[in-house]
Amino acid sequence: TIKLSQRVQNIKPSPTLAITARAAALRAEGKDIIGLGAGEPDFDTPEHIKQAAITAIDNGMTKYTAVDGTADLKQAIIKKFSRDNGLSYEANQILVSVGGKQSFFNLAQAMLESGDEVIIPAPYWVSYPDMVLLADATPVIIEGPQENRFKITAQQLEEAITDKTRLFVINSPSNPSGMAYTKAELAALGEVLRRHPQIIIATDDMYEHIYWADEPFYNIVMVCPDLYDRTVVMNGVSKAYSMTGWRIGYAAGPANLISAMKKIQSQSTSNPTSISQAASVEALNGDQTCIQTMLVEFKKRHDYVVDRLNQIAGIKALSADGTFYVFPDISGVLAARDDLQDDLEFAEALLVEKGVAVVPGTAFGLKNHIRLSIATSETNLKNALDRIAQFIEG
Ligand code: PLP
Repeated sequence: TIKLSQRVQNIKPSPTLAITARAAALRAEGKDIIGLGAGEPDFDTPEHIKQAAITAIDNGMTKYTAVDGTADLKQAIIKKFSRDNGLSYEANQILVSVGGKQSFFNLAQAMLESGDEVIIPAPYWVSYPDMVLLADATPVIIEGPQENRFKITAQQLEEAITDKTRLFVINSPSNPSGMAYTKAELAALGEVLRRHPQIIIATDDMYEHIYWADEPFYNIVMVCPDLYDRTVVMNGVSKAYSMTGWRIGYAAGPANLISAMKKIQSQSTSNPTSISQAASVEALNGDQTCIQTMLVEFKKRHDYVVDRLNQIAGIKALSADGTFYVFPDISGVLAARDDLQDDLEFAEALLVEKGVAVVPGTAFGLKNHIRLSIATSETNLKNALDRIAQFIEG
């Protein structure tokens, strides 16, 4: 066997992608599997976006582009930030990457080193801690308890900060909890961060448009404009426009940091796919009603799933503010069952015995929970809920 780097041995493969692959493998064996593991909308990419890609191919937009994205796409992103967030950026403050995933990877590589601490609220998107480890830095996890709708408080943030803290990551609405920070909560976090000017803030707004709470969407720099010079805003077209396979994400922030992230990207992938960039221009500049269509559907499914889950003994599901995930507490079930030690065993048994794939909360840094993706048909959701009820109640 070939000796591997310490770097790669420090991390684990993405657990959500692993569950999706496991469900696909069982399905290929002929098993009847309902997959609630996937982190992507089940809708097709809207037609006008696909047509823009076809036109791009026909027009020969099939060559390298600028590493940091085409001028057209950067303009569309600048317009989006102005339109949706009231944020103003120049072209040299924008970097287009291969998905939101590469945006965060570039950020970690560009600013972190050994000894640096990165504060990550749990439950978190599975990739943050491992990408921090890949940059030789140290993830510092603080838990957002269910009682606080899976969000951290300003006091928790203050207590976690040391003189080694370099980066604070905030993802709202959150994968996996579906919860969004309110304007007041963001103001309170901003108040703490203001006292620690050495900390850079990364706000991951990937689910900005899959959001249905009463208050309009805010990220931290919208609420605290004085943090503009040390905030990186990350977003992308993957979730809002059902474009996960196109691999386009983007980041906006201080020019020197964005430029360093671009340098990392120039020595790894170069530009994201030229055709996907053309499609993303259409996604951002074109008709936005597709977002609303998907949102209505996700909300309907969310209400159904939360209601059904709460009828099952031992499960407690909070109503989310957005995303296409529900993150119920299963500790009541675990307490009642000697054969299931934890959420990992629960998810494994549910998959093997009932053919329903969910992701254990442990993967997101919060045990005693599971994540269900509602990005699947109502029929699948109904069948899945029937099976979960049967699995628990017999
Ligand atoms: N950020 C969050 C919170 C996510 O859930 C995801 C995808 O699961 C991403 C970023 C990355 O998205 P992309 O597919 O654009 O790389």
